[in-house]
Amino acid sequence: MASWRELLQSSSLARIDAQVLLLHVLQKNRAWLIAHDDEPASEAEAQAFATLAQRRRDGEPVAYLLGSREFYGREFAVSPAVLIPRPDTELLVELALARAPQGGAVLDLGTGSGCIPITLQLERPDLTVSAVDLSPDALAIARQNGQALGAQVRWLESNWFSALGAEQFALIVSNPPYIHAEDDHLHQGDLRFEPSGALTDGYDGLRHLHTIIATAPAHLRAGAWLLLEHGWDQGAACRELLQAAGFAEVHTWRDLGDNDRVSGGRWWPATDSPSPHLASGG
Ligand code: GLN
Repeated sequence: MASWRELLQSSSLARIDAQVLLLHVLQKNRAWLIAHDDEPASEAEAQAFATLAQRRRDGEPVAYLLGSREFYGREFAVSPAVLIPRPDTELLVELALARAPQGGAVLDLGTGSGCIPITLQLERPDLTVSAVDLSPDALAIARQNGQALGAQVRWLESNWFSALGAEQFALIVSNPPYIHAEDDHLHQGDLRFEPSGALTDGYDGLRHLHTIIATAPAHLRAGAWLLLEHGWDQGAACRELLQAAGFAEVHTWRDLGDNDRVSGGRWWPATDSPSPHLASGG
């Protein structure tokens, strides 16, 4: 029987992928493997590793093979029903944490695995957090994550704001599908296995961003922020949409890779009091 080390070397996978998959099969940590990698592999575990290694060679994302991915220091269950959480999205979380008012009602649109609202609620237990998704399968994963991590989040099946009536929030965030339908990335790497409805609008990538920006004001309290994740080349377009919709303090923030990643603005409803020259009756 081959040793664990020989098994890893013969897998023709990236070293880190092979290690992570083997540790998952063995339910051991890296320290254990370093101390035991010259021991003979057991038949059943070698077979389980071979199956995962083949799926990985066929392109399946490591996160789906493991069934989980780390986000903001916590482990989230994932399945092919949800987008795999990206480190880029931690920027959206940090901006939201800095802008959510004490005790405020917060909403996440298109929540997927639930990594955003769960993180917000656990980092800020004062917040009342709601999250919506169009996909019941995604919501099942999000609920499972909320329970496993002990987060109090209200989950709703909703097409953006459709299930929310006239409800208003002190902060709204979203990481909507924003990839252009013709972007080659959709046919490369992990993205081939992710739900296409979570990645692209099937159009120019701006359609859902536009819908959210146009419909969010009715659901924002005075002074509330709308924060949206988007593609590296969509900052200017998002700022234009936010400005056209009447948002103030419109800004784009860059992620750790120095790409435009999140744009947002603050909502101040028009005041009811008549403007001075109208009041003067002229
Ligand atoms: N940031 C993701 C990617 O480019 C896309 C996520 C999304 O469309 N919301 O892979």
